[in-house]
Formats: sequence, C-alpha cells, structure tokens
Amino acid sequence: MQQLDFQLHDFCRVCWTSTQVENKWADRIELIKSALSEVEIHSVINDQRQAVLIDIDSDAFPSLFFQCSQAGYLAVPLEMDAIYDTQAQAPKISELKVLITRSELVESFKKAYKSNNHYQLGKLFSYPDCCIDFYVNNPGYQSMIWPHALLNGDKQARRKIKINGHDQLNPLLRNIGIQMVTHWDCSGTCEQSLIRAESNAKIMIQLGYENELSWLRKILSWPVEWSALHGIAEIRLPIAKIATNTDATPYLYTISRAGTELPEKAASGTRFPFQTLSKPKLTSRRLFIKGQQSSEQMLGQNLWKDNGFATEAGMTNEHNTIFTDLQPILKNLKGRLLDLACGNGYFLKKCVARNSSIIPYGCDTDLKRIERAGLLQQKYQAHFFHMNMFNPALKNTFKLLDSNFALTMLMAGHLLSADQCEKELLFKFLDQYSDQVALYCYEDWFLKHGEVSKLAETIGFKVQEKLNDRLALVAIR
Ligand SMILES: [Zn+2]
Repeated sequence: MQQLDFQLHDFCRVCWTSTQVENKWADRIELIKSALSEVEIHSVINDQRQAVLIDIDSDAFPSLFFQCSQAGYLAVPLEMDAIYDTQAQAPKISELKVLITRSELVESFKKAYKSNNHYQLGKLFSYPDCCIDFYVNNPGYQSMIWPHALLNGDKQARRKIKINGHDQLNPLLRNIGIQMVTHWDCSGTCEQSLIRAESNAKIMIQLGYENELSWLRKILSWPVEWSALHGIAEIRLPIAKIATNTDATPYLYTISRAGTELPEKAASGTRFPFQTLSKPKLTSRRLFIKGQQSSEQMLGQNLWKDNGFATEAGMTNEHNTIFTDLQPILKNLKGRLLDLACGNGYFLKKCVARNSSIIPYGCDTDLKRIERAGLLQQKYQAHFFHMNMFNPALKNTFKLLDSNFALTMLMAGHLLSADQCEKELLFKFLDQYSDQVALYCYEDWFLKHGEVSKLAETIGFKVQEKLNDRLALVAIR
C-alpha cells in the first residue's frame, strides 16, 4: 500500500439507507459496543487475559475502579482527554484510556506502552502469538486491514482484494468497533483467534448480552466492501455507508467480503454489496451434486451455523463432549436414531460414520437446515422433516408402524422454553416410540442452568444414567 505522509483525525459518520433502518440498527450498534467493552473487563476478571486497555467516559471511572478492585485488579488511567465545560465554566476530563490488570504487571505494561514495544504489549494483552507476529511484522500501518487482506485474500487486481474466512473474524468493521476479538487476527481462519471469539461470546452470554451477541453475529455476516482513498475509508454495508479515517493513500484500495447473510431491508442495487447473495442452490435431484464439490464444502459456514454454533471448532468441541461418553451406546445401536431439532443433521452424519447400522432421522423447524440435512446425507434424504418437535403429527410423519426409535437425542434447551402442553405431547411421543432418550446440553446452557441432571429435573425427566455433566439417559417421570 503506497502511503501519503499525513493522517486525518479520528472521525466516523454513518449514512443509513432509511430512517427505519437507522432506528433499528444505530442503537443496536451502540449496545454491542458497550457490551464488548464489558467483555474486555470480564476477560481479565475471569482470568482469560492478563491485561486490557479500554476507552471510557470519565464519569464511569469510579465504578470501574471499584468493580476491578473488588475483584483484585487495578484500573489505571494511562491517557486522558479534557474539554472545557461551558456550564461549569471549568475544564473537565472527558475520556480516559484505562489499563486493567494485576498490580504486579502495571510497571511492565507502562514500560512497554511508553516504548511502543508491540511484541511485549501483545504478550501482556494475551494475544495469540501468530497474531502478535503478524502485527509486529507489518509496521507502519494505522489500520491493519490492508496487510491482513494482502496476506489472506484473493487478489483481483493490484489494489483490489476479495477476502473470506470466518464471519467472527471479519476485519472490515473493526474501525467502527464491530468485532468479536479486539486484537488484529493474522487470518480469517486463525484458530487461536476463533477460540478467543468463542470465549468472548460465552462471556457475552454469561453477562446477559444474548441480543447484542446475535446482532453482532448478524452484522459480521453481511456482505461488506471497504475502500480507502486519501485517508478516508468508506465502508459499504447493505444498510449503511460509513466514512471513517484510515491510512492516507494516493490510490483507491478496495477489499470486499461476500458475507453469508443479508439483513432485512437491505438496499437493492447493482453494485456490491447491494445485490442478492448467491446462496447454495438446493435441489432434490442427486445429479446436481454429482461431479461437484462435496456437499459439506458446499454447505460452507452453514455447516456449523445451522447447528447453532459460531465456528466449526466450537461445534466440533461440543459434539466431541457428547460423542466421547455416548460412544458405548452408539457402538451397539442398531436401527433408527432420531435427532429432534437436528439442524442440518451433521451430528447424525457423524453417528452414522461411527456405526453404519444406525439409520438417521431428524426434524427441524428451519426448512433450509432440513434441505441441507438432505444434501449432507443424500442416502437418507427422505428421513429429514421440516417440523416442530412438539407437533402432534410427529408420529405420522415418521411412519412409526413397525419399529420404534432405538435412541432419541434431545437438547435440553428446547424443552426449557416449551409450555406444559407441548412438553406433554413430546413426552407421550417419546414414551411410546423411543426405546431410549439421551438428554444433552451444550456449554452455554450448562454454565447458565447447571449440569444435566438438574436440567432433566426442571424439564420433568428422571435420570436413568448420567454419562457426563452434560449428557444423560433419561425417562419420563
Ligand atoms: Zn493468529
């Protein structure tokens, strides 16, 4: 990137496609940013990172200081901005840059901060080594967007790059504070950064920011184009155009990211990103798949998103927790295995891979997921149904005339939000048509509601055999 020798002051202006869109998203973005700032504080307090540096309003400092010292940490202002308060007719501190860390690290942090020792700072912030190396090896940039794209993207022309990677590591909205991790990740598939993104998501859930998390994930999945010229970056989203400062260049540099979802009320237009996303074409004709890439590849990021995970690593981790202790049962299982709310059936596919005498069945309320389940396991395409597990027609749908399900997999979360009438319908179905029921929960539910026996009891099951903290064989009470 050829750079000019000036730098514009920090600024950020957003132009929304309509007032309706602005009313919906402007506040949400502010809420996301304030949730992320809380996540930073908690990542230190929860001992996941050694230190963080956050910008706060000076009025918020006393309570931050108190919160940190209660937890055994220090909040130390490192920089401050002052303004002249016309009402009080006196200058006042407006914004603070505050370091949060253990007292014994304050001096080494200050030393590294003063000397601009980014390597040391990265270590103190507990950033992944690969990402520290990436940052240190690309000096001289105000924003790391271009070196990131150069390293990871697909060059269309000398100054035009297409990037992809995981939505959570989408780097193009970092300038406006929309990000899952605070460090500059070395690539859109950096494993350590994905782990950090997952752990930040967990903190958001623990702190009660589920809404903010889902909005954040949505925004990161939209198509976006970033371009820079003369120190001004223009970021185009399907619902807004944002102007902000960046490295000053004499030429136009452009980076685009296709994204995986479009927001409602996306503006339509002929140029990127105002166009319809090309989604995987789904068809029941098998020939369509023949000769193409594997259906798993074609499913792309939907593979884990369909199943409620933000990353492939997150899904694999959670699935493994279930598989390890379910293995003795799966090994001896013969016949029908039902996954209620099966997503795209990836879990079932893994079960079949472990034991080919298993015949998978699934249902889900999301039609697209069910279509993708059929693509993932074409042999069993007819075994996946677009249906709510509480539907009284479930038994007819599965044509349960001659044989029962040998095992039904049921995620506890689905039942916690169900009403009594729905639960009773499902209990009756399970009692009549399933020889065994395995109740499981993923980590977020476990953290929020406790181990599986507790969940089973709340729902109305009795535990027959607890397999681990998140998995048990249960029966109707
Ligand atoms: Zn990395």
